[in-house]
Amino acid sequence: MTRTLITGGTVVSPSGRSPFDVLIDGETIAALYAPGQVEAQGVTADRTIDATGKYVIPGGIDVHTHMELPFGGTNASDTFETGTTAAAWGGVTTIVDFAVQNTGGNVIDGLGAWHEKAAGNCAIDYAFHQIVGGVDDESLKAMRYLTEHEGVTSFKLFMAYPGVFYSDDGQILRAMQTAGDIGATIMMHAENGIAIDVLVQQALARGETDPKYHSSTRPSALEGEATSRAIVLAAVAGNIPLYIVHLSASEALAAVAEARDQSRNVFAETCPQYLYLTVEETLAKPDFEGAKWVCSPPIRSAHDTHPHHADMWKGLRSNDLAIVSTDHCPFCFKDQKELGRGDFSKIPNGMGSVEHRMELLYQGVVAGEITLERWVETCCTTPARMFGMYPKKGIIAPGADGDVVVWDPNGHTSIGYEKKHHMNIDHSSWEGYEIDGKVDTVISRGLVVMEDDTFTGRKGHGQFVKRGLSQYLV
Ligand SMILES: [Zn+2]
Repeated sequence: MTRTLITGGTVVSPSGRSPFDVLIDGETIAALYAPGQVEAQGVTADRTIDATGKYVIPGGIDVHTHMELPFGGTNASDTFETGTTAAAWGGVTTIVDFAVQNTGGNVIDGLGAWHEKAAGNCAIDYAFHQIVGGVDDESLKAMRYLTEHEGVTSFKLFMAYPGVFYSDDGQILRAMQTAGDIGATIMMHAENGIAIDVLVQQALARGETDPKYHSSTRPSALEGEATSRAIVLAAVAGNIPLYIVHLSASEALAAVAEARDQSRNVFAETCPQYLYLTVEETLAKPDFEGAKWVCSPPIRSAHDTHPHHADMWKGLRSNDLAIVSTDHCPFCFKDQKELGRGDFSKIPNGMGSVEHRMELLYQGVVAGEITLERWVETCCTTPARMFGMYPKKGIIAPGADGDVVVWDPNGHTSIGYEKKHHMNIDHSSWEGYEIDGKVDTVISRGLVVMEDDTFTGRKGHGQFVKRGLSQYLV
């Protein structure tokens, strides 16, 4: 068993920062020592990592990824191996991916298929949510089984994508009632997909086929409407835990904030693309290049009536947005995004960010949008609590897994396809982003997986994490 000592750094948690030396014994954090105690107590280790002048934070947890997801006639281009390796490069030590029940398929088979894809291939730990693509008696029974026996305690439904993953209000209510019975969390893709499909068909009929129309046909009001409707249905089901995924719109945030003011178990995440990117800088690029940024909900226009970006940052500060995830779902431009040339509705939805979430959000710390502690809370600690992995994950404390990132606030990261880029995509959605900080060293369950700008981990190190119920409820 390797004993690793991280010395001289500042340990950051949601509640503050303090100088501590951290001892990892085997796969577990064994002790924190105040300055001088290591010498006074004669603590020894096999290796010492000097973190002087650096932050020591819990490993990042990205609770929204889609490795190898079949979508739009192709598969997301990161495998569990390439995606978790890129995650490690970005200071992430746990992902929660979405196992899929396709409409017409079986939930338990869907979970089995995801275990098969991931087992033995992950560089860091992984867990699963379950997408329920067809609510019926059998899938409701499976929700109970997964929660009680399989460590899968959160279930994602879609108010978007009619004919693919879509559930109607009655199906949603039934799934929510089951979630209430078993203590599980319902995750919601909240966009009114029925109305969106009408707008999409009308746009295509007008000859509006370029990528930018992906955004204008998915107006923020329809995300707000669906979010409000989901919140009402969750109340009717008995204030069951509802978690709105990838929230992008001011109207949706207002609905979440109103529910939270009433002490409801309503939570939400946003993603870096909804904090930083605008239609004008991405989807509107000429020659179909905008396809690189087609994701749903869409990137919003800088000229919308609502200041979506500013509101998202505000939501992060007020905890109406509890978590930042990525919705990592990468597709290459060549042969994948290109499927939608001449028809934006055929562009596979998704972009790749799993490597850059910690970096992009740290830039929010530098810019004064959030505090250092809030960065750790939204990217590391709350994800663990929200999805039943705390205090094994999400905190630097004795007994927790040895998932630790050493972050260098004096380092610098240049993001771009020819720069820092380890995801299996032929372009970077974050080309040209410069970060005033750097992932220095990444430790996953006691194993150093990234140091000195070198990946030192291995596929198969990552283990499946069986999750409990949410530890974040009101
Ligand atoms: Zn997603």
